[in-house]
Amino acid sequence: MITLLYHDVVPVGQFSTSGFSGGDADIYKLEIPVFREHLGEIGSRVESSKTLASAATVGDDQASVLFTFDDGGRGALHAAELLEQYGFRGHFFITTDWIGKSQFLALAEIRELHTRGHVIGSHSCSHPARMSSCSRAQLDEQWRESLRVLSDACGERLRVASVPGGYYSRKVAETAAAAGIEVLFNSEPTREIIRVDGCMVLGRYSVQQGLSADTVACIACGQWAPRAQQYLYWNLKKIAKQVGGSYYLHLRKSLLNRERARTS
Ligand SMILES: [Zn+2]
Repeated sequence: MITLLYHDVVPVGQFSTSGFSGGDADIYKLEIPVFREHLGEIGSRVESSKTLASAATVGDDQASVLFTFDDGGRGALHAAELLEQYGFRGHFFITTDWIGKSQFLALAEIRELHTRGHVIGSHSCSHPARMSSCSRAQLDEQWRESLRVLSDACGERLRVASVPGGYYSRKVAETAAAAGIEVLFNSEPTREIIRVDGCMVLGRYSVQQGLSADTVACIACGQWAPRAQQYLYWNLKKIAKQVGGSYYLHLRKSLLNRERARTS
């Protein structure tokens, strides 16, 4: 089982129509034809996509791929429609403080995605800049309140979530478990599953602009080379985050802005 991490899927060139904006947000947004190409490649090589709505549905089947989408931007509607065309379903993780704001899903749209067989989960209330630096009380509130809002909207107790910004720590998982989350996705590029207080923690392979459909499909198939490359890169980034803290965020933003200025 391999989990892919996507963010927004947007019409060509319209990166500001969905999700968070700012220097570093757009690199995670894919245009509709690009995402369609990913699905075509994945669909031709992977037998099935799976959805995990609770810990009971986590298995070790090697052949399936999971599609996850963070933040709750309006582009989820494009993503869901395309997934359905290929017979797939996705997991949509919603930042609940942003529900109903422009560029973000409305409550009724979230309910509709749930009705269509997609899994809805929490991505915290406010998307803290560094989730792992929050106090235990803050984490409790972020998980419990976001789950309450989403469970009310879907008419069912929801049990899955993803960690904002990939800022994972054991405390983040412990508080998620205490809030009733059974499946928690972080951003570590691995297929290993760990358990924290009964909550299953799953890694994900992040997809961003510039990654070819072929590479994404190779990752989805579990091929070793592209996954190893991502694992190496991710661990270098993790070290930089630990050493640099908020300096890392600042540096990342300025590098991206410089890159954008250079290429535009
Ligand atoms: Zn996020």
